[in-house]
Amino acid sequence: MPPLRIAYARVNQETNCFCPVPTTLEDFERTHFLTGDALHRACAPGGFEVPGMFRRVELAGFRAAVDEARDVEAVPVLSAWAVASGPLDRPCFDTLVARLRDGLRAAGRLDGVYLALHGAMGVEGLRDPEARLIEAAAEAAGAPVMVTHDLHANLTEARVRAALAVISYKTNPHRDHFARGRQAGRVLIRALRGEVRPVTAWRSLPMYLGGGTTLDVLPPMLAVYARLHLEEGRGRALAASVNMCHPFNDDPGLGWSTCVTTDGDPDGAERLADALAEMCWQRRHAMPPTFATASEAIAEARGARLARRLGAVVLADASDVVTAGASGENTALIDALLREAPTLRSYVPLRDPATVEVCWPRACGETLDVVLGGRLDPAHSRPLPVRARLLHKRENPGFRRTVVLAVEGVHVVVTEGPAVTIKPDFFTQAGLDPWKADVLVVKNFFPFRLFFAPLARKTIYVKTHGATDFDAAARITFDGPMHPRDAVADWRPADARRRGRPLA
Ligand SMILES: [Zn+2]
Repeated sequence: MPPLRIAYARVNQETNCFCPVPTTLEDFERTHFLTGDALHRACAPGGFEVPGMFRRVELAGFRAAVDEARDVEAVPVLSAWAVASGPLDRPCFDTLVARLRDGLRAAGRLDGVYLALHGAMGVEGLRDPEARLIEAAAEAAGAPVMVTHDLHANLTEARVRAALAVISYKTNPHRDHFARGRQAGRVLIRALRGEVRPVTAWRSLPMYLGGGTTLDVLPPMLAVYARLHLEEGRGRALAASVNMCHPFNDDPGLGWSTCVTTDGDPDGAERLADALAEMCWQRRHAMPPTFATASEAIAEARGARLARRLGAVVLADASDVVTAGASGENTALIDALLREAPTLRSYVPLRDPATVEVCWPRACGETLDVVLGGRLDPAHSRPLPVRARLLHKRENPGFRRTVVLAVEGVHVVVTEGPAVTIKPDFFTQAGLDPWKADVLVVKNFFPFRLFFAPLARKTIYVKTHGATDFDAAARITFDGPMHPRDAVADWRPADARRRGRPLA
């Protein structure tokens, strides 16, 4: 028997339909784009899979599954990753599909393909782009395609049909990318050898919010994830997943979903997918926490003297979360700090390439009049005129040219590219010492808490109105009533319609 040849590839971007900044091919190529041998080295033990972001994630996990099996060859095709933002423009998506297809065709005889996809990607004027990627890969390779998704994926019937199986992360915040890639590799190899016969069932729920904080380590979602592990651990499922969807995708069929793959047991897959859907539906009324207004948060930060002396108060701008696709241009917190706490030493990130352009030729120490924001995302960013002192100018590979502007104690870290403020070194790289700050602003939902733990004496989530407000999805046109925007008595009619099956 010749060795199995399995190609592997990634196309990953999480799209926020409320962000008007389109995602272009340049965004992928600047952030992460690897092919062939460079990709193979990056995913090998000791490699750095997504430089600057993730050391060992899905593709390294898949490589580990191949390495532990005998007589399997892993064939690198491409890995493309862009920071969450607005929808991909058509030329970008069409080029990515073409490169995937060309890479697979050039790979010669293939027995299977592993595709790591986010699952919540959007493309201008195109519905369900990830189904197109899976279909293109299956057609070009002439072989089954195994897929992994982020747990915020929006699953569809077309994907379930086109893929051998779809496996999603089981952690939130996500930390099992490697394990899911390895699981996908193991199931795929066993399936290609005829050792297992994957059959999949899924359910779609007309629900875009629920599950409380949705963290896997806390109720009410803890029990759901425990059930997934139990079913896989006991061998009743090759893979069991729950997808909590990205509530900023404007797909009419948006919603939570469950997906179960068993070894040749269609009834078992149906029963478990159904039971998991019921578990999720029972948790639909547990809403995410409500957040402070900018004024409330600033008043609390002013009052937290001890916290500020021992470290800093961290304000998470929950309406402008760059890692969930917001532009990063929201000026509301800067405006509030200037009015209500100008003497506190605060550091605030702002993505504003036009202001960087204006400041770059000027000398540090100069005072200049600039208008912050109001250009990339005018619906969520009010233009804010300020007279500021230019403190620092830096070039950074991730967010490119960066300038620091100070108005009294308010320090605005203005970046050219999207600023992912997950770690305090974002401020250090801009020339600011985070230990000297009273207030640090981040634009991230959760992972920052881990990295800011040493200096965050208090963390406050703030709602400033923007592209990542939890209730933003109420503006989307759906295919029917959707919880929590509408009263929905039963999830089954929407599920039956979305899966193209008559209501039982
Ligand atoms: Zn996610």
